[in-house]
Parts: sequence; structure tokens; C-alpha cells
Amino acid sequence: MDFLKKLGIEGTNLGTSTGQQFLGDEGAETISSHTPIDGSQIADTTVTTREEYDKVVAQAQEAFKEWRMVPAPKRGEIVRQIGLELRKHKEDLGRLVTYEMGKIYQEGLGEVQEMIDICDFAVGQSRMLYGKTMQSERPEHRMYEQWQPLGITGIISAFNFPVAVYSWNAMIAAICGNVMIWKGSEKTPLCGIAVQNITAKVLKRNDLPEGIFNLVTGGREVGEWMTEDERLPLISATGSIRMGKEVAKTVGARLGKTILELGGNNAIIVSENADLEMAARATVFGSVGTCGQRCTSTRRLIVHEDVFDELKDRLIEIYDDVNIGNPLDEDTLVGPLIDEQATENMQKALKEVEKAGGEVIYGGEELDDTKLKDGQYVRPAIAVAENDFDIVQEETFAPILYLLKYSDLDEAISKHNGVKQGLSSSIFTLNIREAETFLSARGSDCGIANVNVGTSGAEIGGAFGGEKETGGGRESGSDAWKAYMRRQTNTINWSDEMPLAQGIEFDVD
Ligand code: NAD
Repeated sequence: MDFLKKLGIEGTNLGTSTGQQFLGDEGAETISSHTPIDGSQIADTTVTTREEYDKVVAQAQEAFKEWRMVPAPKRGEIVRQIGLELRKHKEDLGRLVTYEMGKIYQEGLGEVQEMIDICDFAVGQSRMLYGKTMQSERPEHRMYEQWQPLGITGIISAFNFPVAVYSWNAMIAAICGNVMIWKGSEKTPLCGIAVQNITAKVLKRNDLPEGIFNLVTGGREVGEWMTEDERLPLISATGSIRMGKEVAKTVGARLGKTILELGGNNAIIVSENADLEMAARATVFGSVGTCGQRCTSTRRLIVHEDVFDELKDRLIEIYDDVNIGNPLDEDTLVGPLIDEQATENMQKALKEVEKAGGEVIYGGEELDDTKLKDGQYVRPAIAVAENDFDIVQEETFAPILYLLKYSDLDEAISKHNGVKQGLSSSIFTLNIREAETFLSARGSDCGIANVNVGTSGAEIGGAFGGEKETGGGRESGSDAWKAYMRRQTNTINWSDEMPLAQGIEFDVD
């Protein structure tokens, strides 16, 4: 496995790192990473101890003193070089994402491309950390606002985007002058090591200190050290709603800042005025892509009664043609689920649909491929259901598509918004009134709303995130950079008088 070596995944102390150095001790507790492709072991990483964690934080605090004073466009130059390094490692890192997480190689490559794109975006943004100027009400006074870095940005990420989500945060936070402490998922620790090695190369080449990009490894306990730690003013957390509620409570209790990117329950409305073939193709990518393990996966399809049967039949036809298997094979479109627990959750959800009165009309079964015997392969499922079934209200992180029927647009929108999550949404229609209604204040209540584009596969240029239980955070493009900075309002008096605002007289002799 040449690609592991090329990404620097060798040795016994991979794990906690402040840059080029790995701090893990021989004999430390380890996490063993297994590929979901066939269950075989890839490599071990050490779990960060409390002592190592405190060392990392101290190193990051030191590095921040230097990094915050580097001019933002120069910080952008470092991120530009990281983008170039990522281009060199695109195939190897994409392969590792596939190998450790299980998404197909095309999607693994896409994930690294997202990292490259956000680097390019961040380079430009580093020259555009704009503040406003205001007109002061006092004579010979100048007022403006400026943006300052926050300090250490804590990044906690999920298994399903093991590298891209980190870079959405880290590259933007870095040009803003912050230093990073990243804890990736305990299910994909090697992706973290590989990315850490890539950023370390660039820092070394530029004689920058240890402590700018830091990695800690482990599960919930290490995450909790971060959320409880007042030395980390901002926690950007990506994961389940359960996790987000805990993070919000802990960070909120110390009045820290959060960016929360949590679960979705995304739907597409397909109107009787839709291009059905386009709707079908977008639905299949959204529902079976990444084996249904995207936060933006299409989970509910709300279809007008006049085209319900036609679309249902077409979907089954396409699902029948989808190749399921080793995600490294070129013709595979659906790889494995991440682990046995995910398969169990899917089976449980399908039973619950039937118990509630729905019907699983396609797939759902576990696939027993002897060549890949310890991989969790399933056939994506389609079920006819009702929006108010408890199980439809939940995000099951697996490829299950619920078909719901509607007769008028208000009903469709009400079903669409009738869940607790609010991440991504879409309508397929060629009718401009329907499209504009969906995008209006009485339309979709989600952070992302598309017309004739599916729910998954966002571009980095927009701000990414969702409403309601999805957490309200925004990251990646647009002005999401502001969440990584503190706003400061400045007033300068260049007169020889001391006037007060609101004309208040306060004469002292
Ligand atoms: P998860 O919640 O199990 O874990 C996510 C991360 O949080 C892991 O690093 C984990 O170690 C850490 N963690 C867990 N409990 C914690 C706690 N109490 N305090 C601090 N850290 C804690 O999620 P997962 O199974 O890895 O990922 C799947 C979930 O992530 C899905 O719900 C998916 O929708 C969501 N997700 C959301 C987005 C988004 O941008 N909205 C993107 C990707 C994934």
C-alpha cells in the first residue's frame, strides 16, 4: 500500500501532533483503524492523553502570539502553498479517504478537490477581511470596525467527511490569524494524520513554528476536553444532533462561541411540472451517494400525486443498475457503510417503517459478498411512508429514501418543513411560480434551498450550514470567515475637544 507510505502513515507514534512532531508514546493507548471495505486493519494511532492535550494547547497559545502578527495576505500565501501540496497528494489522499471511510474513489477525489478549492478561496479572502467605516456624529472623529483573530479554533469533525470539513474550517480560520486544534473522528484517524503531514511540510519549508495546525486523536473524551476548555474561544463541531446538543451546552456554559454543523433530514419536492428524468438522477445521487452517509443526503422525496408512480418506477429502474461493491473499483457507485452499527441502524429503521404502516418497496438487504466478507454492504432502500412517522422524522445515516405523496404545493412545503432538522432542500419544477414560492419566506426553512439541483454536493463558495436542529452554523464560503474573528469598533478623536456621543454635557473643571 504505497499510498499510505507516501502520506507518511508509518511508524508507531502516529497521533497527537503540534506540526511536524508526533507526541504519542510507545505503549500509549491506541485506536486501530480498519477499512470498511473488508474490515482489515490499516494502522494504529495513539490516543491523546490529558498531559499531551495540555502540551498541545500550550504550544498553540505560543504559536498564536506569532501567527496573529503575520499579515493576513502572508498567511494566505501559506494556505496557497498548502493548496499546492494538496494538489500533489490528491490521488493518494483521495484513495486514503476511500480506504478508511468507504466512499467511492471519485468522491474521495472530490473531497480533496474541495480542500483545494477552499484553499484557493481562502487565499483571496486573506486580502478581503473587510470592515466598515461609519460616519461619526462627533466632529473630527473617525469610526470604523476591524476584525481580529479569536485565538485557538477547536475543530471537532465527523467520519463521513474526514478531510474536507476540517479544511473548510482550518483554512479560513488560518487566514484570519487563528491557530487550530483538530480532533477528527475516531473512525477515521489516519485521514487526520495524512492531512497533518501535508500542512507540516509547508510550515517547515516556511520556518514557521510548531503549534499552528495541531492534531489530537481520540473519541468523545478528548472532544469534551476541548469543549470544556476556556483556552479555546471557538469550537466548530460537525456531527450528530446528539453530539451538537452536548457541545452547545458545554461551550455555552462558559460563554464560548460555537459553529454547529449537525444532522439533516433533507427533502426534494418533485412537482408535476418537473423534468422527471433530471429529478430522478439528482435523487439517486442524493440518496445512494456516499451510501446515504452525507449530512445532505436526500432522505425524503415529496412527489406530486400525478407523477408519483412514474417517478417511483423510474427510480427503481435506476437503483437496479447501481453497482454496489468495493469503492476502489471504477464502476462501483455505492460502497460500504462505515460499520456494523450503521447496518444495524438501517435494518432497525426499515422495520420501524413497516411497523408504522409504511412499505419497503425496494432493497434494504445486507449483501453477503464473500470477497469482501467483513465489509458492511447493503442494497439502498426505497420505502413508501408518511412524514409524521417517528422514523421519518429522524436522520438514519444509511441509504433509505422515503417516498411521500402530495396534492398541492402548500401541503408539500408543509411536509418539507415538518421536521426538526433544516439543512438542505430542493424543488424540481419548470414552473417559475412554484420555484419562487419554494425560495420565498413561506417556502423552504433550510440553510440551503435549490431549484432543479439536488440536496447534496454543495460548492465551497456559498456559506454552508443549516437551521433548527442542524445547529445554525455557517462555514466555508461567502462571509463565513466572520465567525472565526472578533469584531472591534474603533473611534478615533483627532480634534482638540472632548465631545460626548448623544450630545451629553458632562463639564468638569
Ligand atoms: P458523531 O456525533 O458520532 O461524532 C462526531 C464527532 O464528535 C466525533 O469526532 C466524535 O468523537 C465527537 N464527539 C462525540 N460526542 C462528543 C461530545 N459529547 N463532545 C465533544 N465531541 C464529541 O457523528 P458521526 O457519526 O461521526 O457523523 C455523522 C453525523 O454528522 C450525521 O448526523 C451527519 O449528518 C453529521 N454531519 C453534519 C455535517 C454538516 O455540515 N451539517 C457534515 C458532516 C456530518
